Amino acid sequence: MASYFGSIVQHSLDALLEDESFLPDLKEQDREQAFTSLTAILSTPNHIHKSFLRIALENGKVVRIPAFRVQHNNTLGPYKGGIRFHESVNEEEVMNLASLMTLKNALHEVPFGGGKGGVVLNPRDYEVKELHQICKKYVHYFSDILGPDKDIPAPDMGTGDREMDWMMAEYKSIRPGTTYRGSFTGKSIINGGSLGRREATGKGVYFTYRYMMHDFMNENREWLDAQENPFARTALNHDRKDLKMAIQGFGNVGSVAALEAYRCSHLNNKIVAVSDRNVTIYNEEGLDIPALVDYTANNEGDLPTTEKELAGLEMKAEILDREKVLYMDVDVLVLAALEGQIHKDNVDQIKAKIIVEGANAPVTGDADKYLADNGVIIVPDILANAGGVIVSYFEWVQGRETQFYSEEQIFEKLVEKMEETMVTILPQFFGDPFPLRQNCYIHAVMKLSTVLYRQGKLY
Ligand code: GLU
Repeated sequence: MASYFGSIVQHSLDALLEDESFLPDLKEQDREQAFTSLTAILSTPNHIHKSFLRIALENGKVVRIPAFRVQHNNTLGPYKGGIRFHESVNEEEVMNLASLMTLKNALHEVPFGGGKGGVVLNPRDYEVKELHQICKKYVHYFSDILGPDKDIPAPDMGTGDREMDWMMAEYKSIRPGTTYRGSFTGKSIINGGSLGRREATGKGVYFTYRYMMHDFMNENREWLDAQENPFARTALNHDRKDLKMAIQGFGNVGSVAALEAYRCSHLNNKIVAVSDRNVTIYNEEGLDIPALVDYTANNEGDLPTTEKELAGLEMKAEILDREKVLYMDVDVLVLAALEGQIHKDNVDQIKAKIIVEGANAPVTGDADKYLADNGVIIVPDILANAGGVIVSYFEWVQGRETQFYSEEQIFEKLVEKMEETMVTILPQFFGDPFPLRQNCYIHAVMKLSTVLYRQGKLY
């Protein structure tokens, strides 16, 4: 398994192979063989679908746009995962993201498998009519492999409820008579979407951090103090302190997580920096997050980029280069932008001791190891950013039942589900020397392996 994902899965399987309490019926040669089968199953996707969407642009030109749907694994249920519109999309990336979805769903007991889609384009370069056509063509080309019981896409980077509404409508016209509501999640409320879905990822990201640094800490302070584990030291060093925070990305995930952090009465957060594709905004005394959220809502999602715009908000802050957010002298860094942001060439400049992954795969393998060796706690993507797919699951259930929950009920259920995972994972993590990412992988792989074994798929 070449990828970073692959190497952690392999490490998890190696640890489980040694652990005789796991699948105790499997012994000696049978055990070796079953684990070899597991490696083969988890390291490769079930299907990679690729098409070139034929699109007639508004200027009359016809273009072909590469599009993917990767179906990694459906052991636990229909494939599930977003569709990304971004110019850097490629087959390997979609494959890795699909694998992450398999583990994310397994980790949080969401009854779905893992999939991911991608279209190679920058949505800002296209007219609305063209984007509409692209969405329709995507569904058209992949209609045989999608469906509420087969593979259920959702928004990801560059897509949102508008795209899901268009796609669901296209699915409905191609497959009339099917229960189309469950074919896509992340739809607008009026189209069968779930209340709270838009905020779900950001809320979940903040919740994982708050749960660890407040709820878990309050109940386990003494126990933590008795642990040899370096990560327990890091947590205790930040206990009941003012926590300076920087947030990379101020989109759907970062801005919601920022608001949650700003409003949280359980922890003393001070958000000193936020960034987007243009700038980092910094104020040592803390930023007025609600004012920035309002500003971006009226400025196509962008943060202020000039002194004049800041003055218009009556806000005192410095405008810095966008990547500066990563290197701030803070306690907590939330990564809610793109993947691969912290890598071997910049990892030694990172000062935060707690990193929360709102984006998928924002830390590369080399950097992850370096940070873990330095006692940095990384709350990994599959743990922290699962709020989106969890509420997608609630949306899918609501669409089937045609009964809808209130926003309050959704957030309650979301927190309950994420708490169940945290309750299992955190004692394991703080009790042994593996980083949190590895613990999450082990847990997810355990679940998948047990199901595969019981289904007789390992021999
Ligand atoms: N794209 C989101 C993710 O990476 C959500 C997927 C979903 O809701 O199915 O988790």
